[in-house]
Amino acid sequence: MPFRSVLLLSILPAAVAESPVRAADRPLRTVDPADAAEDAMALPSGVAVRPWKFIVIHHSGTDQGSVAAIHREHRSRRDRSGRAWLGIGYHFVIGNGHGMADGQISSTFRWKQQLHGAHSGSLPYNDRGIGICLIGNFEKSPPTSAQVASVSRLIGRLTREYGIPSDGVIGHNQVRPTACPGRFFPFQEVLQRSRQRTAVRWY
Ligand SMILES: [Zn+2]
Repeated sequence: MPFRSVLLLSILPAAVAESPVRAADRPLRTVDPADAAEDAMALPSGVAVRPWKFIVIHHSGTDQGSVAAIHREHRSRRDRSGRAWLGIGYHFVIGNGHGMADGQISSTFRWKQQLHGAHSGSLPYNDRGIGICLIGNFEKSPPTSAQVASVSRLIGRLTREYGIPSDGVIGHNQVRPTACPGRFFPFQEVLQRSRQRTAVRWY
């Protein structure tokens, strides 16, 4: 097709000129948080909404990750009574460009089916708490600006839509003694930005 060859020709010189970085090391593209939150929150029709009271924020503690990778890992875990986990314990995962696009928000089967979480180590917070996990280790470095924008937007939309009070938005370390979501997670900034109704473009 002539269109395709024109396209290829216009892409080729740029690709050749690029520095020799391995594809796996290159961050994936960044997404717009305004669209990302709305898309991820959409529920299949007929699913009854769970009466959410909390949002619990986590980091993955890893440099890279994705819904699929965490799902695989959590499926191998067992609860206190020896039953295998259903799979990924969070309701949302936000990518950092390594494994998922930077700022990408993905909902999991737990959100789509409005199931309890398996993320906080506490029954009431798992039962009524929306678990959001950002990929990264925020004990070592802060989240990307796209992640901060996306998580702020998602929290803002969730708290307004489901009537979650702002003191119900907490870090995992407020539920139990853990470093999660890490000392570099900008909690106050995220809370503040989540209260802004209009999306602020971050780029
Ligand atoms: Zn955690």
